[in-house]
Amino acid sequence: MSEQPPGFRAYVGLGGNLGDVVASFQDALARLGAAPLSCVEGASRLYRTKPVDATGPDFLNAVVALQTSLGPRELLGVLQGIERAHDRERPYRNAPRTLDLDLLWFGGVVLDRPDLTLPHPRMHERAFVLAPLAELVGKLPAKPSNEGGNPVLPEASRIEAYSQNQGIERLNELKP
Ligand code: ADP
Ligand code: MG
Repeated sequence: MSEQPPGFRAYVGLGGNLGDVVASFQDALARLGAAPLSCVEGASRLYRTKPVDATGPDFLNAVVALQTSLGPRELLGVLQGIERAHDRERPYRNAPRTLDLDLLWFGGVVLDRPDLTLPHPRMHERAFVLAPLAELVGKLPAKPSNEGGNPVLPEASRIEAYSQNQGIERLNELKP
């Protein structure tokens, strides 16, 4: 937990389809909460999805919101450290994975670098990201523009239609 005033809100996407994914998500949530200068503000429910452009068992997905005074690259480093702690391997693109942590949105920052693109470039194509993200954005107090504002998302009815097309199932809460 942060001992200093928090800075920006960041949304982190969690995904996985190997091993005990719920346990991996709970551990990731605990580690995110323990990250320097950061605290967890909220989490979406869990969503189950058929693999999209990927192989293996069904995926679970969720989104977590952080308040953080880390910079976006520092936070990405924290996410990659948590992935490594879960033996995340990258044998080939879109391979099945124990835990994938994507930085979806960071305080309104726009970046286009190979190591970090913000907002996450594939977020708007993926109902399994949009559905939990929209749920969580709706649950948290809106951020004023001088604190980074809020992610711009398609209308709820559109996200619902994408979710149905892509066979996304909404499950239970992600409990710490
Ligand atoms: P994907 O999440 O698309 O399935 P990977 O997790 O294997 O693929 O991709 C990780 C790579 O993407 C890392 O090298 C990382 O630097 C880069 N990257 C670029 N933008 C982001 C972002 N917003 N969040 C997470 N990783 C990102
Ligand atoms: Mg990733």
